[in-house]
Amino acid sequence: MNYAINLERVKQDIYTIGRYGYNAEDQGVYRQGFSDEDIKVRNWFQSYLRELGIKASMDGAGNVIGRYGDDDRKALILASHLDSVPAGGMFDGVLGVVAGLECIRVIQENNIPLKHALEVIATSEEEGRFGGMLGAQALTGNLKLDWLERAKDASGELLRDAMARCQLPYHLAMDAARDPDALIGFLELHIEQGPVLEQTGNTIGVVEGISGVFKWKIKLIGKADHAGTAPMNLRSDAFMGVADFAHEIARIIEEEGTDKSRLTIGSVELKPGFAHTVPGIAEFTLVGRDMSEDVMKALADACRRVLSAIARRHKLMFEYEQMSWLEPRYCSQDMMNLLQKHSENLGFKTLVMPSGAGHDAQFFTDMVPTGLLFVPSVGGVSHAPDEWTHWHDVEKGCNVLLQSVLELVAE
Ligand SMILES: [Zn+2]
Repeated sequence: MNYAINLERVKQDIYTIGRYGYNAEDQGVYRQGFSDEDIKVRNWFQSYLRELGIKASMDGAGNVIGRYGDDDRKALILASHLDSVPAGGMFDGVLGVVAGLECIRVIQENNIPLKHALEVIATSEEEGRFGGMLGAQALTGNLKLDWLERAKDASGELLRDAMARCQLPYHLAMDAARDPDALIGFLELHIEQGPVLEQTGNTIGVVEGISGVFKWKIKLIGKADHAGTAPMNLRSDAFMGVADFAHEIARIIEEEGTDKSRLTIGSVELKPGFAHTVPGIAEFTLVGRDMSEDVMKALADACRRVLSAIARRHKLMFEYEQMSWLEPRYCSQDMMNLLQKHSENLGFKTLVMPSGAGHDAQFFTDMVPTGLLFVPSVGGVSHAPDEWTHWHDVEKGCNVLLQSVLELVAE
């Protein structure tokens, strides 16, 4: 018998979840980790699972776990996240959660006997509001108590305060770690969030690994001056330092990086931030990525060298803080083979590719055999209100996931 997912159900669930945190003005989704809307959708998802006859619970990190199958069996995890970036789209994360649930529903309604249990997990705080991937880190035992105590978001709100507002005592996140011996693997379906599948005419991406990422906060300190009286050659203009550094990025990648390297200044704040004052302080973020940790180190070293040379040139002080450093992660070859086989059996054009974006899957790679599957993002757009994936591609991705799940867990 050939089983297939029900696209109408998948569509309906994605639309239902998309209403949580929807902003009619810019049509974006605002469901940042541990915001009111995020907690609302988590509570809704738990009761929805229960209505469907699936055991549901929330762990100490805010992950919602739906479990289908006998308690004493090992489980295959199907997961992604339900939180969003500000003004995010409808598919990021949500697709993987809904696809996981749909696989369980197909198995449930057809009474397919299982040798392993299945878990659909909606992970918490994947988008990094507090600088990590809290839910996935908690599940895989990659949390540290002192980080939980001091992590805060861009507005200065502490993670532990945000969790407390959601009735989650932060230290209980440490208890969310799963026993690897009770798991057989981890699979995630996600939108690509980039243009590669669409541009190469492929429908399914089988991910070989996730780029490592480092994030720095950099401060250049000069001297605030009157924009009219301070001569150009006597200034310590902090913004000029940022501008010079930005200009060096292409060269740093050319010399130290690869075609998978990325360096991005995503946020700049100037102080005093007044049109008629030379900026005395520039604070900005730098995020670097690559598939090799050695390359990441080379990029980081080069950035430091270039920044200190620029600081000297502009008579600036230079401080930086490394906010995070995540190593590159590699998916399991067995899972890649499985996903590729089922994608090709179903007749879909399939590409093996790296992921430049971070995903929940990256924390599971060291713990259990891990697979990650992509479907195309129209125009490569993501983290934006017009993020879109064609429904026929959603259906294909879900079916590849279903066939792979059946091979792993059906008796
Ligand atoms: Zn995501």
